[in-house]
Amino acid sequence: MENTLSKIVSLAKRRGFIYPGSEIYGGVANTYDYGPVGAELLRNIRELWWKFFVHRREDIVGLEASLISHQEIWKASGHTSSFADALVDCKNCKLRKRADHLIEESLSGEKEIKVEGLTDAELDQIITDNKIPCPNCGKVDWTKVRKFNLLFPVHMGIVEGDQSLAYLRGETAQGMFVNFKNVLESNRVKLPFGIAQLGKSFRNEITPGNSVFRTLEFEQGEIEYFFDPEESNWEELYEGWKKDMWKFITKKIGIREENLRWRMHTDEERSFYSKRTEDLEYKFPFGFKELWGLAYRTDYDLSQHEKGSGKELRVVDSQTGRKILPHVIEPAVGINRIFLMALSDAYQEEEGRTVLKLSPNLSPYKAAVFPLLANKPELVSKAREIYQDLRETFLVSYDARGNIGKRYLAQDEIGTPYCITIDFETLESDTVTVRDRDTMEQVRLNASELRNFIQQKLI
Ligand code: ATP
Repeated sequence: MENTLSKIVSLAKRRGFIYPGSEIYGGVANTYDYGPVGAELLRNIRELWWKFFVHRREDIVGLEASLISHQEIWKASGHTSSFADALVDCKNCKLRKRADHLIEESLSGEKEIKVEGLTDAELDQIITDNKIPCPNCGKVDWTKVRKFNLLFPVHMGIVEGDQSLAYLRGETAQGMFVNFKNVLESNRVKLPFGIAQLGKSFRNEITPGNSVFRTLEFEQGEIEYFFDPEESNWEELYEGWKKDMWKFITKKIGIREENLRWRMHTDEERSFYSKRTEDLEYKFPFGFKELWGLAYRTDYDLSQHEKGSGKELRVVDSQTGRKILPHVIEPAVGINRIFLMALSDAYQEEEGRTVLKLSPNLSPYKAAVFPLLANKPELVSKAREIYQDLRETFLVSYDARGNIGKRYLAQDEIGTPYCITIDFETLESDTVTVRDRDTMEQVRLNASELRNFIQQKLI
């Protein structure tokens, strides 16, 4: 299974989806850059998400908050005190590991092991009792478990000291809470309603290196859905969110249902303020892991910011005058995790080819156009004409190198659903062959039908 990941990673690099960050300078661990087709795939995921959760729903509005934010936001939210990983260092080879990951990786399979909610001392005890060796050098010589905060501090301007301290946001969610009143007062929204945001977040994480699954800088799609607990039934709202998330992943992103599951957080794992948290998990090549979290967070966030800022964040019911501090349900997903999931789910090795069976919605190129022969000017000019025309509507690729078979293989590896070939018959009848990526079957279509044909496959 690990092998599948390394094959996907190598294809992703070879074809221009993902490159290691800062590579020519030796790299920066856990950072990645997205190449030309990767950037398109990411954009497609973002656009589908925004369309499905913001444009399609009349009860959700969008937001783009600043990446750099006031240190008090992160104090009020609890991040400066408790947003931390418990880490251990190997004294021999200096490898740094998350204590929970070390325990899970070395003891899972041997016994049922639960690490959620354990104190540092309890984690220490498990590592010592089981004489867990360093996965890098094999020695059993760990430091005690120590907590490292995940927030990235930034120092602004030329002011020295604590005054200039701000943080790169550790999640997008706080943007919604601190702007709750702004959105309420400047838009025609009323409870229940959601504020959605897509954007970068930053966490100083130690990761075992599963490609873009966990990185220092990543993109989140988060929604804070605010409601009055006296007027709305949270369990019904929660179930509604589960349905929408499932629908988005299976119908829009096109992921196979058998690779998805819901997992309820245990009492130890769940934050103290949450009444229910579940993760939608995907079966990555390295096992079932969190893709998307769904948490009912009560009124914890707004009440923390009321205390922290001294500003009232309540909504006044215009009929009764009652003051309401809304409760919140939060679906939070990582766009880069959707990206890695999409590649993993689509990757297939078949006889003679490797193919990414991406949903056409996601495919970087919706089609590729080829002249049958590159040295026949009349074929080339007709192919370029069709290519330019389709490009007005979709991102389409053009390829005249090598033979047709090689061009098919190259497009299969980046998940292009249709390859359109212009041959001598095209010059006479204006028809082209369209080869389907998944079935490899070919049909002959009028060139004038191509736009509609492709459009129909994008749902
Ligand atoms: P995990 O348990 O995997 O660290 P989390 O529970 O801390 O995730 P949240 O804070 O709920 O994650 O963030 C919401 C989503 O953001 C996650 O479900 C995940 O898809 C994504 N995410 C979180 N941290 C990272 C990261 N370091 N790199 C990439 N995506 C991430």
